[in-house]
Amino acid sequence: MKLPKLQDIIGFICKDTSDPNESPKLIIVIRILVLTMLLYIALNSIIYVRFLNLSGIILLVISFAMYLYVFTMTYRQKTGIIRYTINFCMVVWVGVSVYYFGWDTGVQHFILVLLVLCYFSGYSNYGIKITYAFALCAFRIYLYFLCRSKPSAIALDSPTTNLLQIINTLTIFWCLSVIALLFSKDSQTLESKLVEYNSQLIDQANTDALTGLYNRRKAIEYLEDLLASSTQSFISLCICDIDFFKKVNDNYGHDIGDVVLQQISKTMKASAGDKCLTARWGGEEFLLVFPSSNGDEAYYFLENLRQRIKALRFEAGEKNFAVTMTFGLAEYDYKSDIDSFIKEADEKLYMGKENGRDQIVF
Ligand code: GH3
Ligand code: MG
Ligand code: MG
Repeated sequence: MKLPKLQDIIGFICKDTSDPNESPKLIIVIRILVLTMLLYIALNSIIYVRFLNLSGIILLVISFAMYLYVFTMTYRQKTGIIRYTINFCMVVWVGVSVYYFGWDTGVQHFILVLLVLCYFSGYSNYGIKITYAFALCAFRIYLYFLCRSKPSAIALDSPTTNLLQIINTLTIFWCLSVIALLFSKDSQTLESKLVEYNSQLIDQANTDALTGLYNRRKAIEYLEDLLASSTQSFISLCICDIDFFKKVNDNYGHDIGDVVLQQISKTMKASAGDKCLTARWGGEEFLLVFPSSNGDEAYYFLENLRQRIKALRFEAGEKNFAVTMTFGLAEYDYKSDIDSFIKEADEKLYMGKENGRDQIVF
């Protein structure tokens, strides 16, 4: 006889679970649980068949038929109905099994499988879930006192009871693991998607959409943190502005103006490396924060940047043109507040504009 391949078994268990209104995971879990129960009953019947009377054999046959029926149901019915059926079948089965074979086989622990299944599955509200959990708990206590009050219907010998205890423990652990594994996989995927989505949101909140540089909000946040934490190294700050940018828009159009902003931003970002943070301060103004450079070092860097930007050529149809920028640079004195620090750089930028533009004022 040819044994079925693992791939075929997985395919069979996952078959017909694509209904968008149904939970495919729940159906797969129930199918695995039911298949486990079928195997479990088949194995048990070999173990204790010699102890069975007619009613015991009938119990085994009915249990097997019942789980088989539930298994076929999973290919035909809605998840909700199957969920109620499996719960009903298992509760009845546990009750009868405990009555027949006694408390010592540990079959009552299958109630825990239902408990976990109830919490992990379904969209019922917590009130219903907690009520059901209480009902299961009460049922288990009832079974305990039932077993205490009279001996089991079938008397198993001690080795068989021990063997059943082991088989039940293994089966219950397997069932609980299947439920927990498959359902927690869902929440883990969800959690990692949320973390990823969250970091995308943070990136978006910190980034200027047109240029891809940090925005004003992020720049202020960075500067505040830097001034609050840094006590030793130099901090320098530059505000720079494209000269006569209005003319660029007027002469070549707003779209070309946007391209200029993007190209300049790209050049700034490429030059900056980890020497400074670059942000779009607003319109055609940019802010550069040097977390560990004194004014002279920053000046040297900015002079280089000024020339690189001046060397850029922008195309507008047949024509091409260049732009210049003016820079206002300030070094932190460890006394003033953040607004005064920014204002100092801004005033120097204004001086540069007054003085003929295309220069750095420090
Ligand atoms: P100055 O040398 O004194 O800075 O002159 P300016 O023309 O650059 O200064 P002004 O403040 O008069 O003009 C800035 C222009 O920048 C006006 C505005 O339309 C343009 N601008 C601001 N944001 C954007 C943008 O996102 N895209 C484009 N294309 N233009 C923008
Ligand atoms: Mg300008
Ligand atoms: Mg401006």
